[in-house]
Amino acid sequence: MRRLRNVKIVATLGPASSDYDTIRALFEAGADVFRLNMSHGEHGDIAKRHEIIRRIEDDLGRPIGILADLQGPKLRVGTFANGEEELTEGQSFRLDLDKAEGDSNRVMLPHREIFEALEPGASLLVNDGKIRLKVDECGKDFANCTVVVGGVISNRKGVNVPDVVLPLAALSEKDRRDLEFVCELGVDWLALSFVQRPEDVSEARDLAKGRAAILSKIEKPAAVKNFDAILEVSDGIMVARGDLGVELPVQNVPPIQKRLVKKCRNAAKPVIVATQMLESMIDSPVPTRAEVSDVATAIYEGADAVMLSAESAAGSYPIEAVQTMDNVAREVESDPTYREVIESNRGGLRETVADAIVSAAREIAETTDIKAICCFSQSGTTALLVGRERPRVPILVLTPLVGTARRLSLSWGLHCVISRGVDRFKQAVINAVRAARAEEFALETDQIVVTAGVPFNMPGTTNILRVAPCEERLIYSSDPE
Ligand code: PGA
Ligand code: MN
Repeated sequence: MRRLRNVKIVATLGPASSDYDTIRALFEAGADVFRLNMSHGEHGDIAKRHEIIRRIEDDLGRPIGILADLQGPKLRVGTFANGEEELTEGQSFRLDLDKAEGDSNRVMLPHREIFEALEPGASLLVNDGKIRLKVDECGKDFANCTVVVGGVISNRKGVNVPDVVLPLAALSEKDRRDLEFVCELGVDWLALSFVQRPEDVSEARDLAKGRAAILSKIEKPAAVKNFDAILEVSDGIMVARGDLGVELPVQNVPPIQKRLVKKCRNAAKPVIVATQMLESMIDSPVPTRAEVSDVATAIYEGADAVMLSAESAAGSYPIEAVQTMDNVAREVESDPTYREVIESNRGGLRETVADAIVSAAREIAETTDIKAICCFSQSGTTALLVGRERPRVPILVLTPLVGTARRLSLSWGLHCVISRGVDRFKQAVINAVRAARAEEFALETDQIVVTAGVPFNMPGTTNILRVAPCEERLIYSSDPE
């Protein structure tokens, strides 16, 4: 089963997509990675969805990525005696540590560290930024604010504090429990919410102990500021535009998205563009023109993956939403302008043999009639380098490790096949040719480019490039050992 596009699709699972038939239909429509959102759903639900995905993987014989998204240190107010209150512009409103239920004058904000970090003049945003408060006066356990933009505030609404680097642990108690739970289930990616500093990523990595790759969600101004250092220690990135557009003026999001996507591609690390991509499809079988354009833009920019949130988790048209992304992707990728943009954004090579080999593989494939670039990858590093080239021909990745294949399902253009490890190059070429034909990338009369690292089983040793005929007899008669 081959995708006819290079960009990948991430679909969030939820109440609208939790049974075998729906998840399988989402995969068949084009979802490459499923996101389990730890902010919603009990461990029982998460385990059930996880088991279904692995069963589908087995039934269809294709690797599927699973990304568990940890909630992170999301701040929330307490509860109100009336469930909700209307705040009006100009009134004062107090946040404190008092456990008593809230009213129209105050509510609890159960995070002691926040009060210590706040300063007069700081903004507090409630309920996705719909309500804006300004701090007039604050102390160890309270903040007296003026309502700058009013609205309805209700139980446990989220609070964003954009101006302050919060002295919060990157992982709450709940996050630590969730992390252990999903790592034991076996997920391929862990997404960290509200990352602020590179140390936050290292902390999660220590807990994950190699059981999952780490993806940092960029949704705080501090993360944008510290981006290079965060990228350095992360395996992947999500441009989490929902919270990012609350913490920063919304018009700042598009240029940040462009910059981050470009940097990730240069670093050969996958980047997901996320949130509100097809928002109207939660209730409508067709998207708005603006949404189609947004998905297309992310693809033109060279993102590895585009993501569905509530559209697939809680909407009425989850499968149509995946189909829409797939259709948009195929159209964009067949546009000559797409190739122009993608090629002009290709960053400089690092001075390594592996970089030179994959770049040469692309050039050979594009100047002659080559049907695919095939690489061998244990850790996934070589495959990511090939993907970074964004070649015009398909990329076939052979790996003996199912974990590598699943993890790479997030990355641009990589079609992974599980294959037994080899110790001789000739055998590797034969395996590559067999896979290229079995997966319908090439016919017997075609040629492919094969790259590998010899000796095998040593990460980062890509050093061979071979143009191979797809007829095994020719390999046997022409190939040196
Ligand atoms: P969330 O993250 O859906 O977990 O909030 C994505 C975003 O903020 O855009
Ligand atoms: Mn978020």
